[in-house]
Amino acid sequence: MTAIDGHTRLLAVLGDPVHHSLSPAMHNLGMEHWGLNCRYLAFHVSPAGLPQAVRGLAALGAVGFNATIPHKEALVGLMDELDPTAAGVGAVNTVVIAADGRLTGHNTDTHGFLAAMTAAFGKGPRGLRVLVLGAGGGARGVVEGLIGAGAHEILVANRTPARAEALVGAAKQRPGDATLEAVPLDHALPRLGEIELVVNTTSLGLTPEAPEWTLLHRLVEKLAPGCGVMDIAYAPGETPLVTAARSRGLPATDGLGMLVHQGATAFRLWTGKELPIEAVTHHLRKKLKEREGTKKNRG
Ligand code: NDP
Repeated sequence: MTAIDGHTRLLAVLGDPVHHSLSPAMHNLGMEHWGLNCRYLAFHVSPAGLPQAVRGLAALGAVGFNATIPHKEALVGLMDELDPTAAGVGAVNTVVIAADGRLTGHNTDTHGFLAAMTAAFGKGPRGLRVLVLGAGGGARGVVEGLIGAGAHEILVANRTPARAEALVGAAKQRPGDATLEAVPLDHALPRLGEIELVVNTTSLGLTPEAPEWTLLHRLVEKLAPGCGVMDIAYAPGETPLVTAARSRGLPATDGLGMLVHQGATAFRLWTGKELPIEAVTHHLRKKLKEREGTKKNRG
């Protein structure tokens, strides 16, 4: 790492909570790789403190910052400018601060999802019939990516149907030819034979002991051979959904790829350089395993 001195620049992630974030490990490895005199720190910022934190980072001359739960939507109203993806998704996860303090909001989750899918399956979602499980912030970025990349049909299934309907209502306003439909979670089961890609954006599935897990398991059992399964959650090894899909011989990938690819887009916006994807992925998987080991030792 370059030594910290009077020229060291600042990047950050703001969240509540934030200490679980892998972004500092990811971006500081990128800084080290390129020998950049910049450090990436995590700051715990409450929703009430967000406007002040954003103004503070601009006043300090930071290069930019990321936002995680629960700030992505609130940031939209704090930007001077939005890129078309952030405007379409209605959420900002990456901010670039110009020399004059102007703030431009981006959403790199959408590109991260598409790049990770292509890296894992060798192709994007063009022409596919897709089932998206969940209708939260992660789902919004995924659906924006699916529409933009030419998916044929997008079914959004959520525990709270009104949330899926709101997401689909907004997504129908976006330019694209995809057919969109919202359904309650359990209504997706009879439709599975026609589905070619499932994207799980719920936080379900990280806890196979939860009663709702049986629904995901039944779902995997009914998928047609060759259907791709993408879980945007990630775990030290495989997520239970990825394990279930692979045990049926289905191509499957977890969310670490999406995390790294969204980070790569942010890194490029801030530095003009490429994040070393393979080294970062390996480093983060190791970090996740170390954390799991620490938890087990404490338990
Ligand atoms: P949100 O809180 O915005 O949404 C959570 C979603 O999960 C909602 O659709 C919610 O349904 C559903 N859900 C939660 N618990 C259950 C349950 N017990 N049964 C059924 N459905 C449930 O979270 P995000 O969208 O921001 O994040 C979701 C996941 O995606 C997290 O694991 C997060 O880490 C991951 N993620 C990964 C990214 C990556 O880069 N890999 C990027 C963004 C997110 P309901 O509406 O009914 O509450």
